[in-house]
Amino acid sequence: MQQRQKDMKANNKFDFSWAIDVAPDSIFVVERSGTIVFANAQAAACFGYEPGELTGKTIEELVPQAYRANHEKLRSDYMENPRSRPMGTGIRCLALRKDGTEFPVDVMLNYKEQDGKLFVICIARDITSLRSIYKELSRAEQRVSAILDKAHDAFVAADRHGKITEWNSAAETMFGLSQEEAVGQLLTETIIPPRYRQAHSHGFSRFLEQAGGYTLSRRIEVSALHRDGHEFAIELGLFSVDTEEGRSACAFIRDISERKESESRLKEFYSIVSHELRAPLTAIRGSLGLVEGGVTGQLPEEAKDLLGMARTSCDRLIGLINDILDLGKIEAGKLELHLEPVSPGFLVESALGEIAVLAQQASVEILSNVQADRLVVVDSNRIVQVLLNLLSNAIKFSPQGSKVNLEVVCLPGDRLRFSVTDQGPGIPDTQLGKLFGKFEQVGTPDIRQTGGTGLGLSISKEIVQKHKGAIGVDSQAGAGSTFWFELPAS
Ligand code: ADP
Repeated sequence: MQQRQKDMKANNKFDFSWAIDVAPDSIFVVERSGTIVFANAQAAACFGYEPGELTGKTIEELVPQAYRANHEKLRSDYMENPRSRPMGTGIRCLALRKDGTEFPVDVMLNYKEQDGKLFVICIARDITSLRSIYKELSRAEQRVSAILDKAHDAFVAADRHGKITEWNSAAETMFGLSQEEAVGQLLTETIIPPRYRQAHSHGFSRFLEQAGGYTLSRRIEVSALHRDGHEFAIELGLFSVDTEEGRSACAFIRDISERKESESRLKEFYSIVSHELRAPLTAIRGSLGLVEGGVTGQLPEEAKDLLGMARTSCDRLIGLINDILDLGKIEAGKLELHLEPVSPGFLVESALGEIAVLAQQASVEILSNVQADRLVVVDSNRIVQVLLNLLSNAIKFSPQGSKVNLEVVCLPGDRLRFSVTDQGPGIPDTQLGKLFGKFEQVGTPDIRQTGGTGLGLSISKEIVQKHKGAIGVDSQAGAGSTFWFELPAS
């Protein structure tokens, strides 16, 4: 070898045979008979032989017993009609190591005639790790499609031409089309109602053009078409996915027709409550007030008492209806605020004016103390509603002859704190967390006898939070309560 290198150097040539030895693949040169005349170092290492040990063996010795006969036939066919077969063009077979273990290889073939003899160059690549990657990939793919198939939502994907590429079981049920029927169809010709098709095509291409791996943050509500021709409401979460085949649009789709129906029934209910119940009740309340006030002449004492009871009941009912309507607005996310800058003093005076009669009837004195010269930007009616709720609760739970303090102070960090403190029974620690929930009434049974719906504080909380404020309570059983809320000062 060294002599050969010296000769070559002398002839001004270099020997690059070492390059073949460092190649990561097994390289063999095989004669027509199948005898190996050359094997590189990697071939020996990969098949478990000593360097040089492979020379003189037949290539079939590197093939598992079960495939040898077939391999011999393939080899002699190839020798008759040799041609170049690049790597990865389909020759995948099992190879055999000296220790008897088998492993998968990808094989490339080429040939050369030299001095009238045919030599075949065979390069074998161990694809064990590639195989396990393929297996892992196909397992992952199976997992994803199993998840999609079990999903409660329909999953639909379409390529850039709007052709459906993915359609899970939930989509089959939702739209009445099997996967075989849907895949390959255009979205516009299947699930988009005819009157929206043009707009859809336009929106679809715009979405794909703009959507650089982008997800629509909110879910959108649209109409979809069932196979039987009926339209129904769906909600979709849309996102795009980029693959080698290009960008596709994907959506998780939920049938919201039932939700829509119950929403419209609820709307109808609130409208009935508002128009058919609140409006006449308010008229009755007005008339009762007038008659009680003597507009129709002096009334006997008994009639006055009865009228007073009727008016109080009316007031309660109107309060309850207002709470229900407010709750409806809150749940529909439609509680609107009409913001304006006002002074805390104005809010306190408005609330005191409205609550004075109730306080007087309960023999409770309300003391107010406003120590804040900042303005707040609020919906005055709504904040007065919160103050009235806190004050009426305080009065309701106060012993006769006791005092309720209404205070407003400035806090560090540009906040104003409104607080209502009573000398009532207080609230046990364990119950404090529940107070601001809907329909929550806490405390001992005799506290429950004070009436109410358990809605006032939860509505107050929504109103305060909508003003970017906070609401809370400090209380101890037997030591009175302080309900407070804080608003940002302007
Ligand atoms: P309602 O007063 O209509 O029952 P609220 O939501 O305004 O509804 O109040 C919920 C519950 O919180 C009341 O039922 C009562 O148990 C408790 N609560 C509210 N304010 C006070 C208070 N000042 N003192 C003691 N308990 C109170």
